[in-house]
Amino acid sequence: MVQDLERSLREELVKCMKILHSKGLISGLGGNASARLSREGVILITPSGKFKGDLTPDDICKIDIEGRVLEGCIRPSIESPLHTAIYKSNPHVNAIIHSHSPFTTGLALAGKKIEPVNYEAAVIFKEVPILEFRTPGSKELGELVAQNIKNRRAVILQNHGVVAVGSTPLEALSIIESLEEVSIMIFVASHFGEVKLIPKDRI
Ligand code: 13P
Ligand code: ZN
Repeated sequence: MVQDLERSLREELVKCMKILHSKGLISGLGGNASARLSREGVILITPSGKFKGDLTPDDICKIDIEGRVLEGCIRPSIESPLHTAIYKSNPHVNAIIHSHSPFTTGLALAGKKIEPVNYEAAVIFKEVPILEFRTPGSKELGELVAQNIKNRRAVILQNHGVVAVGSTPLEALSIIESLEEVSIMIFVASHFGEVKLIPKDRI
């Protein structure tokens, strides 16, 4: 049973990375994904330094809540401190995805906020914070994200990308996709004119 769950989570993580890569939400070596395998703090996470569009279930690493490798690979993601910090302080989170979504990150670079251009933006992305730059892979970045993702589905990392959480990897992936969709809408609308928002009394 436990092995079945582990197998299916490994497959789901690989599938998410393939989708992220095929949609241009990460480049070959960018981004990472993880899933909580057990309440005791066993985590499955993508490896570092491998082409992300073509991972196999056996490439996925198993680490503990302190980021120590339990089995499966030499180098887990450099963002393991970010993933473990989120799991430690957010017990309801069971999956995390980090992407380099170009439109979402690009809008943040220009200081543009996510606005209620559609229903998802109005409800799920009501307040997506843009977190100050911290070095990728650092403990500081992990702590900053863990604190700010509480009661939210996603945060934007300035000069870097996006982190989304969910109860499954596919759910976290949908958040990343949906946020990028909203960012593209805002980008297109601002290019042609004023961005029309959902009226406040309709949300
Ligand atoms: P990893 O390949 O080590 O997961 O790093 C990718 C990344 O996006 C770092 O922020
Ligand atoms: Zn990154």
